[in-house]
Amino acid sequence: MKDSTRKWLWLLLYFVILLAPLLIVMIGPRPEPREFWRELSVALGFVGLALVGTQFIPTARLQILSNLFSMDEVYYYHLRAALVGFVLILAHPLILFMFNPTSVRLLNPMTAPARATFGVIAVLAMIGIMVTSIYRKQLNIKYEVWRTFHMIFAVVMVLTAMLHVLGVDYYLASPLQRGLWTVLTVVWLGLIVNTRLLKPVRQLSVPYKVTEIRPEVDYVWTLVIKPDGHDGLRFIPGQFVWLIIQRPPFAIRQHPFSIASSAEEHDHLEFTIGEAGDFTAKIGEVPVGARVYVDGPHGSFSIDKYDAPGYVFIAGGIGSPPIMSMIRTLADRGSDKPLWLFYGNVKYESIAYREELEALQDTLNLKVIHVLEKPSEDWEGESGFISAEILDRHLSQDRNDMIYFICGPVPMIGAMLTALKQIEVPLVNVHTEQYDMV
Ligand SMILES: Cc1cc2nc3c(=O)[nH]c(=O)nc-3n(C[C@H](O)[C@H](O)[C@H](O)COP(=O)(O)OP(=O)(O)OC[C@H]3O[C@@H](n4cnc5c(N)ncnc54)[C@H](O)[C@@H]3O)c2cc1C
Repeated sequence: MKDSTRKWLWLLLYFVILLAPLLIVMIGPRPEPREFWRELSVALGFVGLALVGTQFIPTARLQILSNLFSMDEVYYYHLRAALVGFVLILAHPLILFMFNPTSVRLLNPMTAPARATFGVIAVLAMIGIMVTSIYRKQLNIKYEVWRTFHMIFAVVMVLTAMLHVLGVDYYLASPLQRGLWTVLTVVWLGLIVNTRLLKPVRQLSVPYKVTEIRPEVDYVWTLVIKPDGHDGLRFIPGQFVWLIIQRPPFAIRQHPFSIASSAEEHDHLEFTIGEAGDFTAKIGEVPVGARVYVDGPHGSFSIDKYDAPGYVFIAGGIGSPPIMSMIRTLADRGSDKPLWLFYGNVKYESIAYREELEALQDTLNLKVIHVLEKPSEDWEGESGFISAEILDRHLSQDRNDMIYFICGPVPMIGAMLTALKQIEVPLVNVHTEQYDMV
């Protein structure tokens, strides 16, 4: 079955799961209708909760989904769906308070029934999720701390919302409805248990060990790992994994890194890692022999997903590893397809894989266009940022038949999409991977 068909089938299934809470409400006996605003507020609460509850699916790192949908698609959807769910959930009590001001007393946990307090806790947890996610950087919250709280808030929110819904007992009067609602909540929370407990247990039996850590260029390292007592994993070039280094697989400290090595080499995995923060700053100190656990492969940012007469790669700085994996794989497969790599870096010395790329131009039908932000005076190549003019100058006339892969900092991805639009490349041919999740 084609990937696009599978994608549509999954979207259809997701839509059914999304509607499940409402379907459960509708299968039971209909209670007496109440005022319009009250019914509206309840309906918004149910839809909001359904939207938020199903967010456990895109974030569950399910390979069956992450190999179909790109990370950018998944996180784009997750952020927006959670935001819409949040607004709907917030509208639920606000509409109640507006049309029935005396109901504000339900906010007082000393006098309010438990079911109302559960609702209040659910809304507070949801506010916690939104504020810390939108303003994480401004609030100076470390990524791992944010992630831990994100998970705790999400579990608290769904559990207390379920207790609120069951406690109110208006639309879920029959045992069947209550049973189905409980099953739904268990499935949502089960996805977290799978990611945080079951998956790590499975990873314990397939460890890796570090066999090499070498400096690539300033502040950039290449880490090589080998499977320890098993066959390793198979991946398609461009995919990434979550690495857990020198910690048990249950650790919250897991970082996503693209596999940089060729998908045709099965005995080891290579990662090229730039120093960005507290974890990556110490990557050069990881000793040979250190234990590593791998969750993956994930992602659909890959030449193997999109057959084309040729490929155009655009990388900015440390965005090059997935692209390098694709180029190395094409070389191992003896490809003669036309390939372009537009590679933006600050200066000549910061170009990772420089010599290897030079050599690959002799074996592949590959044209590498280095674009340097701060070149030395004797630099004769392209300078500044990669632009529509630079792309136009180097790409051939059949550019619209090519498939494009862009990986780099978020602003660069936006600029490249604009540039490609300017030179009239259809954006359906363009695939992106950004390294900044929150
Ligand atoms: C799909 C994907 C593939 C990536 N591949 C590479 C790669 O091949 N090479 C490379 O150098 N970098 C890659 N990154 C980025 C890398 O994951 C982050 O730079 C790294 O996790 C930063 O961790 P830190 O603690 O050193 O820095 P911090 O200062 O803690 O983080 C810097 C930024 O990185 C992001 N980040 C931090 N921790 C995580 C985490 N656990 N999960 C997701 N994002 C996080 C946050 O947006 C944060 O603002 C990739 C990211 C993604 C999403």
